[in-house]
Amino acid sequence: MKKLNRRNFIAASAKTGIALGAAGFLSNQLFAAAPPLAPYTSFDQTPLPYAYNALEPVIDAMTMEIHYSKHAAAYAKNVKEAAQAENADTSKPLEDVLAKISKYSVKMRNNAGGHYNHELFWKTFKANGEGKPSGKLLAAIEKDFNSFDTFKTQFSDAGKNRFGSGWAWLVVGDDKKLKTGSTPNQDNPLMDIADVKGFPLLGLDVWEHAYYLHYQNRRPEYIENWWKVVNWDFVQKRFESL
Ligand code: MN
Repeated sequence: MKKLNRRNFIAASAKTGIALGAAGFLSNQLFAAAPPLAPYTSFDQTPLPYAYNALEPVIDAMTMEIHYSKHAAAYAKNVKEAAQAENADTSKPLEDVLAKISKYSVKMRNNAGGHYNHELFWKTFKANGEGKPSGKLLAAIEKDFNSFDTFKTQFSDAGKNRFGSGWAWLVVGDDKKLKTGSTPNQDNPLMDIADVKGFPLLGLDVWEHAYYLHYQNRRPEYIENWWKVVNWDFVQKRFESL
């Protein structure tokens, strides 16, 4: 099958008249990098800051395309539907809804979480990751986990051991300490009902849709390879912005 990158996907879509859904998707912002540190998350899906094939071979172009343009796009669409039905103000940060998600429907919980998690997820990738953080974030990881390798093992285990669908997280707790954990489905650490609470610095999607085309049942291999494309520069800036 012909590999689709962002540019030839757009060209193919235009030829066949496929509607792309997201307003502005074809605008001149298409190749512009998303703001590295948008302080809050909006209800709209932002453009991917790289082509669908940018992360190959770790994450294949088809997985990226389906993940971004189908799965994540659906969360963005559905969270707006839920917001309209439940009178949530979409001009306000999505984080406001997450903080009191227990007051909303299951549809809101699944899609507000799904939208937030993926908006963060795309930004934490780059083609050639640094492999590990540096500066203040590395110092904090070494303080709270003893070593970067210990952190990596704990985080990887959180993803490997999540039964069914969910996410692994690195968060900053209220006590300012870093911790790892995992949440089921599309829950996340900003939710009032979360299993692990805090400000998410880094999240790893371990739903099968994130890896199955390339890795099939080999979730541990997906996780192991994923470390190569972590955008530690972004994660560090996110940490330092707190
Ligand atoms: Mn996903």
